[in-house]
Amino acid sequence: MNTFNADLHCHSVVSDGTLTPEELAKRAKDQGVTLWSLTDHDEIGGQVRAAAAAAASGMDYLTGVEISVTFLHQTVHIVGLGFDAHNSALFEGLQRTRGGRSQRALEMADDLARVGIRGTFEGALKYAGNPNLISRTHFARYLVETGVCKDTYEVFRKYLTEGKPGFIEHRWASLKDAVQWIVQAGGMAVIAHPARYKFSANEELALFTEFKGHGGQGVEVVTGSHSVADAATYAASALEFELAASRGSDFHSPGESRTELGALPDLPGQLTPVWELLADRIQYAPRVN
Ligand code: AMP
Ligand code: MN
Ligand code: MN
Ligand code: MN
Repeated sequence: MNTFNADLHCHSVVSDGTLTPEELAKRAKDQGVTLWSLTDHDEIGGQVRAAAAAAASGMDYLTGVEISVTFLHQTVHIVGLGFDAHNSALFEGLQRTRGGRSQRALEMADDLARVGIRGTFEGALKYAGNPNLISRTHFARYLVETGVCKDTYEVFRKYLTEGKPGFIEHRWASLKDAVQWIVQAGGMAVIAHPARYKFSANEELALFTEFKGHGGQGVEVVTGSHSVADAATYAASALEFELAASRGSDFHSPGESRTELGALPDLPGQLTPVWELLADRIQYAPRVN
């Protein structure tokens, strides 16, 4: 039995996950995933390894990335799927997007030092498999290691988020640039985990409308970040805005992530899955008979 199971959102050590692309591929395969995408934050350096590991373990593969965007003073994530991983405009855009992370991390550490929590820059850096991609997740792991918080969920409740110690406002890519980098590289842009943003109804309408206007075509409906009610809400949005629907765990780490690779409800039946529109972008695994 090989039941179709798409997981089009997860992270490796190339961004803020703790497994290598190869370890993730093995875990995804063991969990029954049949179509996989590695979507590291602002970085496609793991794509060749992920595609090779997927082929070796018999999973179909879509190239992936999750781009950090600033929209109406909030951070929004745009997932790109099925693009050409050798596209130079996409590569340069991502390089610029992640460029400010080191300076931001130093400022985050200074802000934490103001409330008496010291050494966090060096501490977070220890966890960053890719120092150019130092992220809040790496700070969160260090704050757990040092006993400041019991888990990373507590960290994001008490620190590193707006109004809390360690939060530094940052300007990421524009929505227009992120969508266009993906689309011009032959891929599909997808709004990641829309229920996580704190937009008013009008602001969310602006996000969906502008996203579509720039050429965006998809929205995550079933994700590790959504409740059952959130999935129903954004299934309705997908129909209303005529967007294809995506499905992904947003897995970062065993023992840290609440949603295991591939362990998600199916997409509601009336939606168009992103993989139907991306059929010619899928790297199909060699079929063994
Ligand atoms: P950064 O890109 O450095 O701002 O880090 C954002 C990452 O922090 C996300 O991709 C998640 O992996 C992680 N994270 C976990 N919980 C939260 C939360 N409540 N708010 C923001 N980020 C979170
Ligand atoms: Mn992350
Ligand atoms: Mn995200
Ligand atoms: Mn993610």
